[in-house]
Amino acid sequence: MKPQPPIEALRAYDPGHDLVALRRAAAPELLVELGSNENPYGPAPGVRAAMEAALSQVHRYPDPFGGDLKRALAAKHGVSPAQIILGNGSHELLMQLGQVFAGPGVDVVFSQYGFAVFAIATAAAGARAVVVPALPVDASKPRGHDLDGLLAAVTPATRLLFLANPNNPTGTWFSRDVLAQFLAAVPEHVLVVVDEAYGEIADAPDFGSALSLLPLHPNLLVTRTFSKAYALAGLRVGYAVGSAEVVGMLERVRESFNVNCVALAAAEAALADDEHLRATCGENARQREALAEALKSRGWQVSPSQTNFLLVDFGDVATANAIEAGLLHRNVVPRPMGGYGLPQCLRISVGDAVENRRFLAALDACNARP
Ligand SMILES: *Cc1c(COP(=O)(O)O)cnc(C)c1O
Repeated sequence: MKPQPPIEALRAYDPGHDLVALRRAAAPELLVELGSNENPYGPAPGVRAAMEAALSQVHRYPDPFGGDLKRALAAKHGVSPAQIILGNGSHELLMQLGQVFAGPGVDVVFSQYGFAVFAIATAAAGARAVVVPALPVDASKPRGHDLDGLLAAVTPATRLLFLANPNNPTGTWFSRDVLAQFLAAVPEHVLVVVDEAYGEIADAPDFGSALSLLPLHPNLLVTRTFSKAYALAGLRVGYAVGSAEVVGMLERVRESFNVNCVALAAAEAALADDEHLRATCGENARQREALAEALKSRGWQVSPSQTNFLLVDFGDVATANAIEAGLLHRNVVPRPMGGYGLPQCLRISVGDAVENRRFLAALDACNARP
């Protein structure tokens, strides 16, 4: 058997460590899981009852349109339900974008250190990846997206351009004004996808969601997820908002019933609780700043972040590897960054106060010095 040519060179998405095996090995001690940018506070209290109610209906197929959730999202974002498509996580939607808008002979533009799925979606579609060098490490947004460079890389062959704001794994973001200027300059034959997986978490004064720019740009699509700020990573719900025309094209290849009934009910309940979202994002921001300070005071380089993780530069590969091994040995799981071409870095999700203390204690026990 041979796969189709685009798939031949493709490698599967790297989830980091085998967490199930690590949990078993750590038992009865609890593993401190800081590798996947999950939300340690859990979803809104109303989510459990909504899920339990949905459990009595698991013998039925879910609503194939996800109508209730789409209407709730449409009301929240001030768009029509026809401008929203739901995904089994936003990862699925990114792959669908490649399937629908990329292909052989097509260029897809994204940044170096951009989210890993951009490259997978491009390669799976048989399109050419045009990877634009990131901002330098001494920039105010270290290794962040260079929007001027991305714009300069657009050619008549470009159909798709992926941005992440804020970006994973760098944690960096770009401002509302820079994004508005960028979108005004991108030719209309290019679909610009802004992945806002951390959009609810970002609160910097200069950050602005691309959602507000949708009325101006029919070639703009924004993806979001319930996996991060809403703490539903285990249920797999994401969504994209764009023009009804683009959303309709994506709908043509959507799997029937791609979001299950428990997930639909949970996402709707999570969306209804703004107070829980505010409280948990606020606590994340406080913990993130404290953790960044603690790392910097130990001499390590930490990128500014508007997310629930920190990209930490340990200076060289040997040190990063030693720290990763030392953390794992002490039942703390970071995310290695070799796959992103940053083997001297580790990505550390911001845990709750207890988890962050355990991480710092494990780090100190590693005895590594900058
Ligand atoms: C986590 C993440 C996603 C994927 O989220 P799912 O909705 O769980 O598939 C997408 N984009 C970025 C940048 C992420 O960090």
